Amino acid sequence: MAVKEIMDSLAKQTVNNKKLSELVKDIKLVGDKLELVFMLPNKSLEKEIREKALSVLKDVEGLQDVEISFTEMGQPVQSPAFHRTRLPGVKHLIVVGSGKGGVGKSTVATNIALSLSKLGYKVGLLDGDIYGPSIPTMLGLKNQRVEVDKFNRIIPAEAFGMKVMSVGFLLPSEDTPLIWRGPMLMKALTQFLFDVKWGSLDFLVLDLPPGTGDVQLTLAQTVEIDGAIVVTTPQDVALADVKKAVVMFKEVGIPVLGVIENMAYFVCPESGNKYYIFGKGRVLAFAQAYGLKVLGSVPIEPEIAETSDSGVPIVESSANSQSAKAFLSIAKIIAEELERR
Ligand code: ADP
Repeated sequence: MAVKEIMDSLAKQTVNNKKLSELVKDIKLVGDKLELVFMLPNKSLEKEIREKALSVLKDVEGLQDVEISFTEMGQPVQSPAFHRTRLPGVKHLIVVGSGKGGVGKSTVATNIALSLSKLGYKVGLLDGDIYGPSIPTMLGLKNQRVEVDKFNRIIPAEAFGMKVMSVGFLLPSEDTPLIWRGPMLMKALTQFLFDVKWGSLDFLVLDLPPGTGDVQLTLAQTVEIDGAIVVTTPQDVALADVKKAVVMFKEVGIPVLGVIENMAYFVCPESGNKYYIFGKGRVLAFAQAYGLKVLGSVPIEPEIAETSDSGVPIVESSANSQSAKAFLSIAKIIAEELERR
């Protein structure tokens, strides 16, 4: 079950010559619970909309609980229509997203979190990439599983001075395929945000799945997010996906702190010359077109991949490398920006 499936069902019913899906003002799906806000063209239609919506939603498999509310058309609507909760004890919640997979989003999220920790902040890192949690491997936590205290509260793992939680810790072993249905993992992720004993944190960095799906939408409506970072590579910025990611954050009211250009160039170890393998200047042009900042550019360094696989991120293993310096500089910019607010 996904938001799309629900919208498709709602499109099967019409009220006042309008498909019900066109009247949806806001939609929130957490686990098997759905909350819908309909725009009400006319007060007398409330009953009809409710009945018709429920008549199609009862056939959506896996949906247990539906809550419907209305906002009158023409009336100023409160925005957002849902109540977003602030994470208790967390000063700044940052999400890291990308248009598509494989651009280095998790690598960036991990090294930025670690850089913030090295700057002296208390940092948590939540791996929300429910379709491919790679942070346990990057931090040497492959065998870590979820632990609870005597009050049944989830205790985060610790790595390099950070508190770490990953959907991957729920799997029986690292090789277990992620065959769980999306809604179940979504529920787990929401639980990780709210029910993990994060303690007091200056920054919680949340690594999102790539793209612009239900996870991003639901999170945006559930929790107050202070800023989003979008990771792209120079060649992918030309694709529509990264634009969609930026537009999505803007539409759901999450401030975009800026763009990070990953795999920006390669420095030849012999000559020291910089080679812009995937093109130069495109990310800057893109950012300018969208009124965004480029927070920094991270070079291609084979060592990044090696250290990630061995469980020690580059900021820890080679603090003097170009990429570690880039991550540290980006972390400083992010911290300054958020602390200034
Ligand atoms: P995503 O989270 O976007 O799917 P990952 O962070 O898992 O991407 O990175 C994909 C692969 O690219 C990994 O093997 C990672 O080590 C490697 N990688 C990421 N950034 C760089 C870089 N700047 N230089 C070299 N390898 C990188």
